[in-house]
Amino acid sequence: MLQITEIPVEGYEKVCRGIDTASGLHAIIAVHSTALGPALGGMRLWPYESLDQALTDVLRLARGMTYKAACSGLDLGGGKSVILGDNSIKSDDLFEAMGDFVDSFGGDYITAEDVNTKVEDMGVVATRSKHVVGLAGKSGNPSPVTAMGTFLGLQATLEDVFGDSSLVGKTVAIEGVGAVGSIYSKLVTEAGGTVVVADIRGDAARKVAEETGGSMVDPDAIHSVDCDVFAPCALGGSLNDETIPRLKAKVVCGAANNQLLEPRHGEQLRERGIKYAPDYVVNAGGLINVYNELVPGGYSEERAMKRVESIRVNMKAILGMARAEDICTSVAADRFAETRIQEALAPNRT
Ligand code: NAD
Repeated sequence: MLQITEIPVEGYEKVCRGIDTASGLHAIIAVHSTALGPALGGMRLWPYESLDQALTDVLRLARGMTYKAACSGLDLGGGKSVILGDNSIKSDDLFEAMGDFVDSFGGDYITAEDVNTKVEDMGVVATRSKHVVGLAGKSGNPSPVTAMGTFLGLQATLEDVFGDSSLVGKTVAIEGVGAVGSIYSKLVTEAGGTVVVADIRGDAARKVAEETGGSMVDPDAIHSVDCDVFAPCALGGSLNDETIPRLKAKVVCGAANNQLLEPRHGEQLRERGIKYAPDYVVNAGGLINVYNELVPGGYSEERAMKRVESIRVNMKAILGMARAEDICTSVAADRFAETRIQEALAPNRT
């Protein structure tokens, strides 16, 4: 039987641990905020070394989702779930128990696929709860919308730095050419830019370089490439004490989550005169895509693509705020999101 225990965490609306010994489920669901709407965030399966490590991760990720949704103007809050374990524990029983756990939040938490969970797993979760998005036959692969959103954020940032949004004559160094980075590379070259790519999968980098007429470098050389834009599209933590001094770019704009190793690295980029397009502002296309499943009328790719245009507008607002308040763009993005959340929480809201 599923046993649910609440873990009180300051600053979070509800955090629960769920254990079902029969299926082997050991999971945590964290709802950071529902001020703007139900908390949406993926279900991650990861071999955490301890409960503490899993809790730290789910709290960080849930809070990040609140900020991403708020910045994107979506009527969604932030939440996340993590299952402790690796792929070997996957079973229908496990995802059914997880479905019950999701359902126990009564719609305050909406789940979706994430690292190590697949659309098929969400299909099993959906047999126990209707609070699931990203199911087969609905919004589908989010990567093209994420790449497009990141590209729109890039255009806004180029305009701010260079006076116009054109890619002609610009070189973009792209770290990681997986699902998003490969499409982003094509958007850049189709707009007249040149790409230099790197990937720990050399074959993937070679393929994208060939397809786009660009070039490739080793992954450890990508930060030092002579370029206008550095685009982290691999894993988090790419911007840190070791890499920031090596950057030659004037702009950083990529799709990876958690690009700044620590918040202070946003200020470090500013001090070096590099304009950083905050990750959760420009990579919100996937969230915008899946959000479209929840709006009246159901999913429409056309509507999702239209809505993703808001990323350019939001990016411009954040760049303007950073300039006006003389702060770095990552702090401006946080304030931008917090303003929207505070407005939603205001008692006299109409
Ligand atoms: P992916 O796994 O398809 O691609 C990541 C690529 O990065 C892979 O090809 C991998 O080999 C490469 N890589 C890993 N470490 C590297 C390194 N040190 N140097 C160079 N290359 C490296 O993932 P994706 O879906 O393209 O997502 C990329 C990033 O964008 C992730 O951080 C993800 O969390 C974020 N993101 C993705 C989406 C989406 O819609 N897919 C939405 C929001 C954010």
